[in-house]
Amino acid sequence: MDNWIFVIVISVSISVSTVIFVILLYRRKMRRILDSLNNMLDRAIDGDFTEYSLDESALSAVEAKMDRFLSSSSVSSKNLAAEKENIKILISDISHQTKTPIANIILYAQLLGERDLPEDCEVYVKTLSEQAKKLDFLISALVKISRLESGIITVQPQKGNLQDLLENAITQIFPKAEAKEIDIQAKSTDGIAYFDPKWTVEAIYNVLDNAVKYSRCHSIIKVSVKHYELFFRIDVTDQAMGIEEDEQSKIFTRFYRSPMVSTKEGVGIGLFISREILTAGGGYIKVASKPEHGSTFSIFLPRDSR
Ligand code: ADP
Repeated sequence: MDNWIFVIVISVSISVSTVIFVILLYRRKMRRILDSLNNMLDRAIDGDFTEYSLDESALSAVEAKMDRFLSSSSVSSKNLAAEKENIKILISDISHQTKTPIANIILYAQLLGERDLPEDCEVYVKTLSEQAKKLDFLISALVKISRLESGIITVQPQKGNLQDLLENAITQIFPKAEAKEIDIQAKSTDGIAYFDPKWTVEAIYNVLDNAVKYSRCHSIIKVSVKHYELFFRIDVTDQAMGIEEDEQSKIFTRFYRSPMVSTKEGVGIGLFISREILTAGGGYIKVASKPEHGSTFSIFLPRDSR
């Protein structure tokens, strides 16, 4: 009887030891795989995954798949970076090479316009001059977008006075507003926010420029600032024709123009640039609008550096 008990105890002990041994072995293997995957991901995040030497034969199935996935995404992100660089160079070349011809077209159209021309020719010259200026504006805007996107131009937020920022933008738009006898009513603010002074003025100017461009003569544009816990919100409210609900997200995309504004000048790039600038500085922009009842563009600037 004792012998039987002894045999059972020994068998159970051996079985338990074997199970523990297998579990430990399995845990060791899993830990090695996890360490290896972790290492691969760290190297991929640092951008030097392709230099990582792996012994293919020693890889588990999951490591091998991760290796293939990271190798291919590293190659495609390098290709993407190279393509971006090529586009950047191309745009910069186009800008450089077209500068002189466009300046000449504008100059000669101006000289032609100063002569006594038949009435129909005056219209042609005026159109020629307007189109050349539009082309000039478009090319500079494309270059600006390409530089913003490729990081050549960096938005560098710093602590700044919102009152100065708004005064600067309003001063720039004032001549256009005055020409249409539009009253810009701005409430003063003592807010201090984080923004890049040069670029944020441009972002706000684009919004004010639209408000003036799309508003009727003698209307009112209101500018006010609200304080929130994390952001300052600058509201620009106009009495223009408003924007249909299904267009409100499209207007921030490149080259989108509402069919309602086809008779007004513009290329559909201003709000896209504003959004790029504000997002790069940790802020954002949104619109609330009702057709026939005007629009409010809200620009959010962070209160603190991140
Ligand atoms: P652009 O004004 O040159 O067309 P934007 O990118 O500045 O380009 O604006 C995109 C579009 O958004 C405009 O074409 C217009 O349809 C709409 N939009 C912008 N601002 C206003 C506004 N204040 N009132 C009505 N529509 C607007």
